[in-house]
Amino acid sequence: MSIFSKMIDGEISCNKVMENDDFLAFHDINPKAPIHILIIPKIKIKNFQEVSPKTMAGLTSFTQKVATLLGLDKSGYRLITNNGSDGGQEVMHLHFHLLGGAKLSWGHLSDSNSKNFI
Ligand code: AMP
Repeated sequence: MSIFSKMIDGEISCNKVMENDDFLAFHDINPKAPIHILIIPKIKIKNFQEVSPKTMAGLTSFTQKVATLLGLDKSGYRLITNNGSDGGQEVMHLHFHLLGGAKLSWGHLSDSNSKNFI
């Protein structure tokens, strides 16, 4: 069972931002930007390659609400999902990284140093 599944089941705690019946948003424990939220479906889906269009529709709407709640709808933000080994996915439960709170650089996406996020 992944660490995110344990959060959904309440076995371990998270710093929750928003939740509904299908999705959960919480602060990343190791933020790469002033605001770094993880958004996950409550059903077990390994990664983006395995998600259905129906789940993505709900996740899109939920993500927009999270961005609005945090004021990022006006200032802007970045949404990333790491898919599989080469994509850098560490937790095998679908999650989107919602990053904002500063003007984010773009160059880091082509190297392996994730510390250069902003
Ligand atoms: P990824 O590399 O895309 O699989 O991202 C996994 C993310 O999960 C990383 O950004 C971690 O910092 C984050 N993470 C791991 N454990 C926790 C936790 N207990 N609470 C919040 N975020 C976590």
